[in-house]
Amino acid sequence: MIRQEDTICAPATGSGGAVSVIRMSGSRSLEILTRIFYPADRSVDLLNKAGYSLIYGDIKGGEDIIDDVLVSIFRAPRSYTGEDSVEISCHASPYIIKKILELLVINGASTAAAGEFTRRAFINGRMDLSQAEAVADIIASTSKASHRIAINQMRGGFSEEIRNLRAELLNFASLIELELDFGEEDVEFADRNNLKDIVIRIKLIADKLASSFIAGNAIKKGIPVAIAGKPNSGKSTLLNALLMEERAIVSDIPGTTRDSIEETVHHDGIEYRFIDTAGLRETTDFIENLGIQKTYEKIKQASIVLFIDDVMDGPEIINRRIDALKEFLNPDQKLIIVINKTDKVSPGEISGIHEKILAGNKDVVVFISAKNKTGLDELRKSLGDSAITEKLNSNEVIISNIRHYEALRNVSESLGRVLEGLENSIPEDIIAIDIRQAIHYLGEITGEITSDEILGNIFKNFCIGK
Ligand code: GDP
Repeated sequence: MIRQEDTICAPATGSGGAVSVIRMSGSRSLEILTRIFYPADRSVDLLNKAGYSLIYGDIKGGEDIIDDVLVSIFRAPRSYTGEDSVEISCHASPYIIKKILELLVINGASTAAAGEFTRRAFINGRMDLSQAEAVADIIASTSKASHRIAINQMRGGFSEEIRNLRAELLNFASLIELELDFGEEDVEFADRNNLKDIVIRIKLIADKLASSFIAGNAIKKGIPVAIAGKPNSGKSTLLNALLMEERAIVSDIPGTTRDSIEETVHHDGIEYRFIDTAGLRETTDFIENLGIQKTYEKIKQASIVLFIDDVMDGPEIINRRIDALKEFLNPDQKLIIVINKTDKVSPGEISGIHEKILAGNKDVVVFISAKNKTGLDELRKSLGDSAITEKLNSNEVIISNIRHYEALRNVSESLGRVLEGLENSIPEDIIAIDIRQAIHYLGEITGEITSDEILGNIFKNFCIGK
């Protein structure tokens, strides 16, 4: 479907704002530009203009002046796509944008398909596939943590590691294949112990990267948090208090819609997403309802469970409820015990209750009054401590893309078979097949191995203009 010979155009900016950018890329970009763009400085020779120049002038449709614009010129291969490209910065009127695109098409450009600029960048070797995928992630990133993962990936952080591992395996595969060529003669070019070491090492790296996916995916999509507790314990009041403070923080940022912050809270660069809490809030009897599949399923989706209870119920009953809840949690889930309505008791009573709850639990206990909004900072801090922050603070590579995760799992499986083969003296030709498979899957991540189907799937999720 790729039309490398075509020159393509598309709006590159979303709606709103004062200025819009229209992108055009392909060998005819400058020639097409000359037909509609008239530099203010008549002496400018557009066709021979060097890359990275900025030119001011008018866009005209026949005699009609459409807009005065700034045009950036990029020369192959030093452009996003690797082709000659131009970017027209015009006024952000939907009419002007439409008109300029129309003029570009009339003069020989085609409209770009979704992700076509980035697809061309990949085809032309400007970035590998995992970097191209990171472009979409970086545009979609909503928190400091998700942004960090995306920007590391875009800058090629783990592509290089994958490429090196693949090169090592390739080297061994060719040595083994050379042995096979010699057939009957008993030669051994590939040192078996050496091969085993390499396979073990690469398998470990693949496993480690794959295991970072759960954390990476949670960070990318927001860490799922469930609020659970008996009716009237204050679940809605707490959620509203958290969301209201969130709104106060983000409402100054233009363009943030209420919808997108409806059930998310940011703290210290991480986004927390409250999962389908409405369902949990509706339950009539919390403990009984835990046994109901639907409630349980919702709690299961959470990385962090906020268990909220009424301080007036007393530590014995509260501890019993906590014990019941814990039966349903898996070891990876973090539990934060939130004791609410502290405005109803004296500080002295609180510390007594605190001790009794801590005696039965090693979990984090936070005392709040959702109504008076006290203790919320401490609660947010506990959320931060429960999130997977160790990984974020180090420079470790985190993957957040399910395609990479699946490929890494396949790499690990193939290498597992190689190890088994080496230990059980399986014939070389069989081992060689499994090594080739591992090489294949590693290549899928960076795009050294690819098919139109894989590319189509990746780029169809991009916007037009990306
Ligand atoms: P939910 O059923 O768990 O969602 O509980 P709600 O948030 O609807 O709260 C139930 C009742 O408890 C409401 O009347 C709230 O005003 C009240 N409530 C919630 N939090 C507090 C609190 O911190 N202190 C006091 N005194 N009342 C609270």
